[in-house]
Amino acid sequence: MPRALITGITGQDGLYLAELLVSKGYEVYGLIRGQNNPKAELVARTVPDVTVLTGDLTDLSSLLRALQVSRPDEVYNLGAVSFVAYSWEQATLTTEVTAKGVLNMLEAIRVYAGSDAPAVRFYQASSSEMFGKAQQTPQSERTLLWPRSPYGVAKVFGHYMTINYRESYGMHASSGILFNHESPRRGPEFVTRKVSLGVAAIKLGLQDTLVMGNLDARRDWGFAGDYVDAMWRMLQQPTGGDFVVATGETYSIRDLLDTAFAVAGIDDWTPHVEQDQRFFRPAEIDVLVGDASRAHEVLGWKPTIDFTGLVTMMVESDLKRLADGPDSGLR
Ligand code: NAP
Repeated sequence: MPRALITGITGQDGLYLAELLVSKGYEVYGLIRGQNNPKAELVARTVPDVTVLTGDLTDLSSLLRALQVSRPDEVYNLGAVSFVAYSWEQATLTTEVTAKGVLNMLEAIRVYAGSDAPAVRFYQASSSEMFGKAQQTPQSERTLLWPRSPYGVAKVFGHYMTINYRESYGMHASSGILFNHESPRRGPEFVTRKVSLGVAAIKLGLQDTLVMGNLDARRDWGFAGDYVDAMWRMLQQPTGGDFVVATGETYSIRDLLDTAFAVAGIDDWTPHVEQDQRFFRPAEIDVLVGDASRAHEVLGWKPTIDFTGLVTMMVESDLKRLADGPDSGLR
């Protein structure tokens, strides 16, 4: 039975990845931080077969201990301070967790496994936010990185450190440059979920308006369930590598509003949406769209859910969640 350790198991991707690995027969361990983390209950309910270990990406000794207990064949490093807007407010914390945390995990694997370090396959959750002020469209593994937020800068550090450990120690270390991926499990602070929850609340008469930032930003949005499959595929390759994972299609926040309100049966959303400078980024990224040809060719990966399918899934889930009440069991 293969063994896997996942950091960030309480997050959107951690839960989908744990479900995928359990379904493939893995023994799965998940790292949870903090004393009495309230999301531990969510993990126990969603993936009861996962063994929870406590630890923090800023605490190297806890990572070593997690490796000694789980003895993993594969490590998926999904833990991060992951909300871009928040990274300007807490830039040092973002750097400690999202940048230095990657080095801590790589170093923990190197120390734990010694000369066997290449036998522990490592996945780093890199991000399209590394492209920032995009120097080429669409963006591929060869596009120059130009991050535009403390989060993006931290992810660039983690990306290059992953490549460096692959080149320095021969580690099977892969960096997945994932474009935005969403689901009904997305945190409510992220724009897609903010919209799906807001639209559902407006439809049910629980809320009048949705306060938004820049409506013209364009992103390449896919379904998180598809994207964790790409992570797993990367670690099944004979050697580590870097892969862009994206749909190749780009939509604006206006398109997101059009689609989400239409799913709820509201044709004209203008009376329900306000804009506020508080929700604009200090340095914006206008458009991101990925070229995932390498993932298609080498990993045999393709997305299965398009933008309309994704937004429909999220709005319908939030309509059900709000109609059923806070104890409906959906996150
Ligand atoms: P998420 O829902 O925000 O989850 C982040 C996870 O990191 C949570 O489990 C969180 O734990 C954990 N974490 C935070 N600080 C930590 C620390 N100091 N030590 C250990 N764990 C810590 O993010 P996601 O959407 O699942 O994304 C997974 C990864 O992919 C992240 O690294 C993200 O930056 C990256 N990524 C995401 C996207 C996307 O569109 N979703 C795109 C590209 C890259 P708590 O629950 O305890 O806070």
